[in-house]
Amino acid sequence: MRVDEYIARVRGPGAPGCHHEEKGQKMVLRQRKLAAGTGGSVVVDHCQSCDSTDLQPIIFLGYLPPVNGMPEIGARPVEQPAYPAQMLRCNKCELVQLGLVVDPAVLFPPTYPYTSGTTKILRENFAELSREVMSLYPLKKEDLVVDIGSNDGTLLSNFVEPARVFGIEPTNAGKLAQQRGIDTLISFFNRDSATKAKEKNGQAKIITATNVFAHIEDVHEVIDSLLSLLKDDGIFISESHYLLPLVQTIQYDTIYHEHLRYYSLTSLKNLLEMHGLEIIHAKRIPTHGGSIRVYAARKGKYPVRDSVKATLDEEKRELSPKALADFRHRVVNSKLGLHALLRDVKKRGERVYGVGAPSRASTLVNYVGLDDGIIDCVLEIKGSYKIGKYMPGTVIPVVDEARLFDDPPEYALLFSWHIADELIPKLTQRGFKGKYIVPLPEPRIVDGRSA
Ligand SMILES: [Zn+2]
Repeated sequence: MRVDEYIARVRGPGAPGCHHEEKGQKMVLRQRKLAAGTGGSVVVDHCQSCDSTDLQPIIFLGYLPPVNGMPEIGARPVEQPAYPAQMLRCNKCELVQLGLVVDPAVLFPPTYPYTSGTTKILRENFAELSREVMSLYPLKKEDLVVDIGSNDGTLLSNFVEPARVFGIEPTNAGKLAQQRGIDTLISFFNRDSATKAKEKNGQAKIITATNVFAHIEDVHEVIDSLLSLLKDDGIFISESHYLLPLVQTIQYDTIYHEHLRYYSLTSLKNLLEMHGLEIIHAKRIPTHGGSIRVYAARKGKYPVRDSVKATLDEEKRELSPKALADFRHRVVNSKLGLHALLRDVKKRGERVYGVGAPSRASTLVNYVGLDDGIIDCVLEIKGSYKIGKYMPGTVIPVVDEARLFDDPPEYALLFSWHIADELIPKLTQRGFKGKYIVPLPEPRIVDGRSA
């Protein structure tokens, strides 16, 4: 399922933000103020993981409008909220997180359309995940695999053969899973649904959570709930967008308010340890421009693989405070480089269309300060609900991608730059003869015919 559908209300009954850890672990009982239900936002003044107040600013991208705040083309601009996007690093547990949590009801209003879509790269990733599980931690036929945010059941379909499966999914995508024979509880994941799942099927040997773990406001609540559902020798597998490639390839455009936390293995380790969990294996995977797959189990249940130490060592070098300070410098230079490149293009009176309006495009447009004088329009594929709207925070219209071929500009700026190698040949083959602007990591112009 899509994370954005997931966030709204994952908390179950019980005091929100009030949790305690397993025996022998530090007690964390401070009442945490949550943004959900406020209609506004809550400043993060304590680390979302360890509660420390020692939070170091890394970068401030300015005030960003909600990604889905897209007025109709032609509408006169009206007052609109914008939220500060400051990235913080906790000096105690190293968790990198946004300095502000916005009420999910603001980010995902009821009008926000649900679009199911499991891309090829995700399907391949899930198939590879199941092969890896079967080779590292072979399952028995009676073992249960539970997927949190199981969408249309694509991940679980890979486990139908070797084990029993169960999905928990709040959106209608869960009905698609049911239709293909994958037992699914249509619900948000919280204490309640964890209990229901347990009563129905018993505890799970494997619990998976892909691309949901960084987006839920009260992460401790989620871990407590999944622990109640996990067998004593069970394994929890999470996949999250990974801080290391974010820093290395300057992916500042993935910073927006839906993404509350930007995990490293180090910060994830510190978080899971608070709940008595130990990371036993970690692996980098290519989804979403660079993610990390992490296996965790109750302490001492499984040997810890070499991958864990190797990754932690790499993070010591590559995600040091100095590396993060350098990240800011590189982001600023990348922005100025894009300005310089566009200035030359505009001086010659040439036109630029944006290609694709994913959430990350909104951050780039607003942080870099692109407006309708620089970018004529942004193209989306036919059927996209974004067509006919303005890009958030601007009056750049989003139009059908047919315009790229019917009225071609000199340049196409790729907002999904992380898949530029895939997009450029495709658009060139379909007849676009102009050049491409790849905005990140280093802004550059690519001639599609010679690429
Ligand atoms: Zn912390």
